[in-house]
Amino acid sequence: MTRPKVLVVFGTRPEVIKLAPVLPALRKAGLRVSTCATAQHRALLDSALEAFGLRPDRDLDMMRAGQAPEEVIARVLRAFPRVLEKERPDMVLVQGDTTTAFAAALCSYLRRIPAAHIEAGLRSFDFSNPYPEELNRVKIDHIADIRFAPTRLAKANLSREGIREGVFVTGNTIVDALQWAQSRPAKAPRILKEIPPAARVILATLHRRESFGKPLARMLGALKTLAGRRKDALIVFPVHPNPNVRVAARSLRRSRIRAIEPLPYFEFIGLMRRAEFLLTDSGGLQEEAAALRKPVLVAREATERPELLSAGGGRLVGTDPARIVRESCRLLDHRKLYLKMSRARNPFGDGRASRRIAAFLRWHFGLGQKPAEWAG
Ligand code: UDP
Repeated sequence: MTRPKVLVVFGTRPEVIKLAPVLPALRKAGLRVSTCATAQHRALLDSALEAFGLRPDRDLDMMRAGQAPEEVIARVLRAFPRVLEKERPDMVLVQGDTTTAFAAALCSYLRRIPAAHIEAGLRSFDFSNPYPEELNRVKIDHIADIRFAPTRLAKANLSREGIREGVFVTGNTIVDALQWAQSRPAKAPRILKEIPPAARVILATLHRRESFGKPLARMLGALKTLAGRRKDALIVFPVHPNPNVRVAARSLRRSRIRAIEPLPYFEFIGLMRRAEFLLTDSGGLQEEAAALRKPVLVAREATERPELLSAGGGRLVGTDPARIVRESCRLLDHRKLYLKMSRARNPFGDGRASRRIAAFLRWHFGLGQKPAEWAG
């Protein structure tokens, strides 16, 4: 009997980071694994692939300058069926909420190939935040046959939508990736050598599509105000390559702001560890910050990761500049609040999510026992 084959699809940096620990776990579980990159984001995807020493078996290389989500969907719908015909997988595995993941899951459904979804069930309940990812994730959850929910809340969200079968709580694989990264020697990023030892580093990233234009300009304005007001702080801002972010970030020339190129993953973790706190609209960063015990100010109007807020490690500060400045100063000035946030529990996982996913799929394909925690 040939071993079952799983086709793993990714298009962006966070998907690669969150799938990197899953690939060896699947192979160890006795499954054949093939990988397909859509390259929805070329440069960031390649940087993450390089960090983990990965080379996709198939690369659709579909990024075009200024692309809209509907163009990405159209390109995946056109190209991915051919990959399915050539690979003939027993299952397609997608991760997260990207347009790549949605379009690949849809193709699998149309070709009647079962799909599994890692990081299922997260909900902000607002289709404009994050846009278009909230809709992508909901649709993938309804298309997929198997959903790996990172938390109990994610499972409960699915249940409320009537999805009760084929849901398994695993933790988020980003914690696995982070632990893996921390276990290996990593080059310190150059920026760390340039930061004065006494500087209190605020690591900021902003790149969400729903913020492009005025909200992003206002948030960058908040960073400038903060840099002007706080002589003790240094803001490090890795600039996302999206042209909307690049152009807006040109205004960030201030003495206490360092706008830098995105860092390779392992170097970026070094920067996160050096930071006093994070100000971000990134999903993955919120999870990593929780695992590293770094307080996070979430610069979004709605979040699909409320576990971070209830655990106490993060605060939803929105996009209003006055609030961002106020909340940042509070974190810098109130030691008690800072310590409380940095001692919060990590609600996103224990570093064993990939093993759980692999053990489940092994059982699903009749190669092993049902994992004890799901046997009931
Ligand atoms: N990241 C990185 N280098 C950087 C900035 C971020 O490797 O300069 C990593 C970060 O550690 C996290 C992921 O990229 O794992 C987050 O990606 P992004 O913010 O683009 O997407 P989101 O998580 O919001 O979907």
